[in-house]
Amino acid sequence: MAAYQCLNWDDASHYDRTRDLPCVLCGRPTPLRSHASEPVHKVCAEDWNADNADQPRRYTLPVKDQPQDDVGTWRFHNDGANTAAKRRAPSVELCPSAPGDVAVGLFAA
Ligand SMILES: [Zn+2]
Repeated sequence: MAAYQCLNWDDASHYDRTRDLPCVLCGRPTPLRSHASEPVHKVCAEDWNADNADQPRRYTLPVKDQPQDDVGTWRFHNDGANTAAKRRAPSVELCPSAPGDVAVGLFAA
């Protein structure tokens, strides 16, 4: 199985509590939204990023003596982590779960 880059979508703006809409990638209903408000499952977005490695990538801003971190594609990318101040936590992690798993932590009260 290929290693997937998990997207950090902890921000509440990714969750539309008012309605589910068909995912733009798989067509199944989802309350999740991309930064551009596209209805999309997080795992579908991660799969799309993995399958579209030639798409334009986003990186953290350059900081002296530190490598820039890949934060995803311009279509689907991490929350924050675009500035040095937000670099404290690693922005790139490999998903331990298989594609299709639901990020249940996102819905915890
Ligand atoms: Zn989907």
